[in-house]
Amino acid sequence: MSGAGATLEVVPAVLILLGPPGAGKGTQARVLEERFGLVQLSTGDLLRAAVAAGTEAGKAAKAVMEAGDLVSDEIVLAILKDRLLEPDVSKGVILDGFPRTTAQAEALDDLLAATGQRINAAVSLEVDDAAMVTRISGRYTCGGCGEGYHDSFKKPAVAGTCDKCGGTEMKRRADDTAEAVATRLQAYHAQTAPLITYYEGRGCLETLPAMGAIEDVAAALKGIVEQATR
Ligand code: AMP
Repeated sequence: MSGAGATLEVVPAVLILLGPPGAGKGTQARVLEERFGLVQLSTGDLLRAAVAAGTEAGKAAKAVMEAGDLVSDEIVLAILKDRLLEPDVSKGVILDGFPRTTAQAEALDDLLAATGQRINAAVSLEVDDAAMVTRISGRYTCGGCGEGYHDSFKKPAVAGTCDKCGGTEMKRRADDTAEAVATRLQAYHAQTAPLITYYEGRGCLETLPAMGAIEDVAAALKGIVEQATR
C-alpha cells in the first residue's frame, strides 16, 4: 500500500452517509455524484475490488465480508487512504460505508485535520431494520456500470438490461444472504450507530428519514448538501 505516509490534497467537500445496510447509502451517493460532481467513496466497493483482484487485503477481507462482519480498521484505513490519493477526489467526496467504527471516525478526523479540513455533514439515513432485509434480498447491480436495481422496487425498463449503459450482466452480492444481512445489521447497531452521537457532538450531524421513495430522499438530501457545502 502506498497511502501510509503520503499527504492528502485538500478536498472541497467531505460528506458522510451513515445508515444500516440497505438504507440507500450507495443509491443516494450515486445521485449526489451526478448532481454535484462529487466522488462516491464506498469502502465496500473498494474491498470487493480488492477481493476480486486477489490482493493481500482482499484475501484477508473475503471471508469476513461474506459472513457480514466488519473488516479490520487497519485494512479499511489503508485502502481508503490509497483511494484518497487519487486526483478525482479533489472534486469532493461522499463517504459511503465509512467510517463504521469510532476508531475509523477518529482516523478520518486526523487525516482531515492534517490538511485543515473538516466534515461538511454526516447524514444519518433513518430506516426501519425490518424493511432492510426485504430491500437487501431483492437487490442487484449492473456489472458494467454499477447501477443498482431491485426485484420489486426498481426494475430496469427491459428485464436483464441496464437502463443506464445497456449492459446485460447483472450481479448479486455474496453477503446479501439472510444470515449475513442479520450479522451486518448487528454490526451496524453495535459498532456504527454510536457514530451518530459522535458526529452530533461535532456539530455536523443531519438526520434524514429515508423510508420514502428514492427521489424524495434524494430531494431532501440535496437540500442538506447545498446547505452544508455553502
Ligand atoms: P457495504 O458495501 O458498505 O455494505 O460493505 C460490505 C462489507 O464490506 C461490510 O459488511 C464489511 O464486511 C466490509 N466493509 C465495508 N466498509 C467497511 C468499513 N468501513 N469497515 C469495516 N468493514 C467494512
